[in-house]
Order: sequence, then C-alpha cells, then structure tokens
Amino acid sequence: MKTILFEGKISKVAIIKILSFFSKKAYHSKLSPVVYKEYPDPKLPAENWVRVKNIQTGICGSDMTFYRCAQGPSTAFLPMPCSDVTYLGHETVGEIIEVGKEVKKFKVGDRVCMRKYLSSCELKGYKEEEFCDMCKIGNYSDCENYGEPSKINVPTGAGMGDTYIAPEGQVMSVDGLTDDEALLIEPFAVSLHAVLKHVPKPNDKVLVIGAGMIGLNVIQFVKLLQPKCQIYVMENNPNKHAFAKKLGADQILIGDPYKAVANATNAKLYQSGKNKMLMGGFDVIFDCVGKGTLFNDTLRWLKAQGTLVKVGYQMTKTKFDETPIWWQGLQIIGADSHGLEIVNGKPMQTFDLIKDMMLKKEIITDGFITHRFPLDDYKKAFKLLIENPRDTIKVVLECD
Ligand SMILES: [Zn+2]
Ligand SMILES: [Zn+2]
Repeated sequence: MKTILFEGKISKVAIIKILSFFSKKAYHSKLSPVVYKEYPDPKLPAENWVRVKNIQTGICGSDMTFYRCAQGPSTAFLPMPCSDVTYLGHETVGEIIEVGKEVKKFKVGDRVCMRKYLSSCELKGYKEEEFCDMCKIGNYSDCENYGEPSKINVPTGAGMGDTYIAPEGQVMSVDGLTDDEALLIEPFAVSLHAVLKHVPKPNDKVLVIGAGMIGLNVIQFVKLLQPKCQIYVMENNPNKHAFAKKLGADQILIGDPYKAVANATNAKLYQSGKNKMLMGGFDVIFDCVGKGTLFNDTLRWLKAQGTLVKVGYQMTKTKFDETPIWWQGLQIIGADSHGLEIVNGKPMQTFDLIKDMMLKKEIITDGFITHRFPLDDYKKAFKLLIENPRDTIKVVLECD
C-alpha cells in the first residue's frame, strides 16, 4: 500500500512553519510532515472490513491545512494523541478489491466512496455496543472518542494512495453515478449539512461569503431548499461570479464590504475611525471562508437576531469583538463535514441525500472539477493550490 499521510510530529511541523515564513517552497521540501509512504498491504483487521482500490481523489481544504501545517499550537485538537498520523484524501471514489467474510453489503468490483473520515468509533475498531452517543445515531463526525486510541494497529490509508482499508459501514455504493459525481459527494455533503443547520425563511436576505467549492454548493442548496430567499455573494475572484449566479446567486457584492452590505440590506452604516458598525444587515450569513478577522466583520453584517453559519475555518486563535453577539441576540452555528440530518422528522445520512439528488439530476454537478494531476505529482497539485487557489475549485488526483 502506497499512501500519503501527515506525521504530526511537533518538531517537523515547527520547522515547516518557520521555513515557510521565508519561502513557500518549504511546503514541498523533504522536511514536510506530509509524506508518501509505502507499507506492506495490511491484512483486513476484522471480517467486516473491505479493501478499496482508489480511482480518483479530490484535494480538500482540510488536506491543505495539513500540507501547510496551518494548525496553530493552541487549537482544541492538539491535546489529543490520535491526531499524530492522518491519512490524506477523503473525497474519493474507488473499487472494492477484497471483502471480509462478514461483509454484507458489498462484493468485489463494487464502486464506492468514503463516507466517514478522520476518526469515528467504527474506524477505531470499536464494537457497536462500545460506540459513543454521537456515533450510535450516525453523527460520526462529532465522535466523542476522537481523542481515544484506535484499536486498529495497521496502517489503513485513505483516498490519496493506491488502496485503503475500511469497515464496510465507512463506504457507500456509488452505483449509477460517474466517477466525478462520486468524488463530489463528500464536498457537496459538507455544504448541504451546513445549509440544513439553518435553512433560510422566505424573503430572508442571505449572504454567502466565498464562492469556492463549499460556498458554491451552499448557494445551490439554499436556492433549492428556499427558492424564495435572496442570495448575495461576496467573492473576490470575478471568474467565479458567473458560476455562482448559475447556481442561484441573485447578486454579487463588490467594493467596500460594509458599504455593499448596507446597500444590499438598507442597513445604516456608522463609523468611528476604522471601527464600523451596521444597524440592520443580513438575516443569515454562511461564512465559507473563515479567516479570523472576517469573523469580527460578519457579526456586524448580521441584523439583530440574525444567524451566522460558520462553515469555513482557520485553525489558529483569533481576536474578535463579541459585542454584537449578546447585544444583538445573534445565533452562531458551527457546521463541519456531514452525518445525521433530520429531514421531515426522519433521520437521514447527508451522503444518502446527496446521492439521491445526483441520481435524480436535481443538482448541478458539472463545472466543479477544474484541475487533474496523477497521484505521483501530488506536490504539483498542492503547489497550485498554495500559489493560485483562486483559479481552482476542485483539484483531483488520479490514483489509477
Ligand atoms: Zn472534504
Ligand atoms: Zn464515536
């Protein structure tokens, strides 16, 4: 098994952090904690596991966080020992090449995508009766055993490699979908999960910040689930404006953001030196960028009792003025990855909802994949994402 992984040794991460200060070439150097390693093919650790041969894998913002060693020393992940090794690539489609004796849903030759990634009770080899409360109900992304050691003592690999192994519950059949659609299920699910956390009401004015992979689909799903709201988009790259409009954006905000928000929402703008505040603003904001300084602004772009859904993130400490939160009664909702959704009172998995919409052709899936590289050229792909992120939407590594 050949696989790309992140070895989170503090010394390695610190060296890259320091060197990258002087040159971005440091990220691609031999000192990088992201390494391409070869292991003897691991045996399936239990009879309900499968082995999957990767066809292609998308590069996610979270993979970039590892590659850029962008995690700060004080994030909530850091005290947990299990974050030492992370296999990269979870937006993946592949073919099953081996099944354990107790595998019920799959056979060799089935095409699948990866449902879960990072840690969950199932991935750590826990028996069902040992699952945490979150995993029990299908909320694997919020697993409460994230910090606990895994019972699996072989390398599992993931999407950025030739093969990986996983429990059968971790993969989902993509029968009926193309390889490109299958690869897009995971990032689409991230956007849908965020929108389902707070579906806007009719006539709401909604701001989507960032028209990258996640923001574009937030636009698409907001329009699909609430066609009667108005969607405004903040995106610096004009090349992405047409696609944002095609997916449902009503208007693109340009120029000074405070003035643009005031104009779009009839809010009153007040200013004292550099300190600006709006009275009035958006009903809902989906922040799909997540830079720290932006958080301070988005709180001021909401009207009283408005809702911020925070999808984009940075993994370092940030400073912000909390006044608008309590004074204006704001609601802040965090959204990460995917898992359990309650749709019309019924529990559903985000992945199943996306697959269903793709099969029924209810959503646009063309136009998101902008670049492709062979897996062995992964450094070229990461270089493109570091140097020209604005030109890309989804960059794909071909593993086959
Ligand atoms: Zn992803
Ligand atoms: Zn769990």
